[in-house]
Amino acid sequence: VKSDARNNYRYHAPDMERGLKEKVAIEGLLRQAIDKNELLLHYQPRICMRTGVLKGVEALVRWQQPKLGMIPPGEFIPVAEESGLIDSIGTWVLQEACAQAVAWREQGLGKLRVAVNLSPRQFHYANLVAQVQGILAQAGLEPDHLEIEITESAVMKDTESAINTLHLLKELGVVVSVDDFGTGYSSLSYLKLFPIDILKIDQSFVRDMLDNPSDAAIAKAIIALGQSLRLTVVAEGVETRGQAQSLKALGCDEMQGYYFSRPVPAAQIIEIAQRHSPA
Ligand code: C2E
Ligand code: CA
Ligand code: CA
Ligand code: CA
Repeated sequence: VKSDARNNYRYHAPDMERGLKEKVAIEGLLRQAIDKNELLLHYQPRICMRTGVLKGVEALVRWQQPKLGMIPPGEFIPVAEESGLIDSIGTWVLQEACAQAVAWREQGLGKLRVAVNLSPRQFHYANLVAQVQGILAQAGLEPDHLEIEITESAVMKDTESAINTLHLLKELGVVVSVDDFGTGYSSLSYLKLFPIDILKIDQSFVRDMLDNPSDAAIAKAIIALGQSLRLTVVAEGVETRGQAQSLKALGCDEMQGYYFSRPVPAAQIIEIAQRHSPA
């Protein structure tokens, strides 16, 4: 009867309340996740469309929670961002990704750049550039082996300080990409003020580009824009051969997606790199 009452309560609880409870519970568990070694990184290959050579990988965080199982970043990164836990998680991700890049190099892989996602809060952290510099030095990684992925909305939030941070990162030698490009509200005229290197076409445009002429037109426009600004254009979420072929025909430089590989543990990157190294 007791459990009945509880189930009833749960059933009638408004969604918002349940959402909040869940968030608080997740936050509590997440607070201990780093110390308990529950976070790990998977890496998704990024391939040159012309040559098929592995150009780099994107580090994607995973949370292996003993009771709840594997929790996707879409569920805990927003909580981390709101609660401030993203500071320590983000630092851990940067350290781990840089250490892994050095380990791959020591295992004989050629230049393999590792891209790390930075949440808006991390990007606007006043000490970011010094922190990145310190982590690179500690790991012994060349700055141009690290790429930082930020979203349009992160750079558009406080454009003046964002431009300043981007310039400092560039001076440091770190590569910068704009993630999910096309989904935010960046003004195109700002793009020329941002010292960035790479545009990543959001996967929502890639997903339907073969069936939806508007999505195809947007992908095409982003590629043309990237080319005229001399940026590298990367398509993400490429799942089929047809998408890959049409992106290649449009002049897209690199691709990422299930068509080539899902995000995988670090050890699998070694095999992939050996199969897709420059001739
Ligand atoms: P994102 O940066 O846009 O990453 C791409 C997401 O698309 C990843 O989901 C990846 O697994 C997934 N994906 C890759 N290829 C395909 C494909 O062909 N088809 C489909 N349907 N999906 C594909 P994931 O790993 O669940 O990450 C989700 C988001 O979580 C990321 O989106 C990123 O915004 C955030 N995230 C992941 N790791 C970190 C991190 O270390 N720090 C921060 N701040 N955010 C992270
Ligand atoms: Ca990303
Ligand atoms: Ca993305
Ligand atoms: Ca995304």
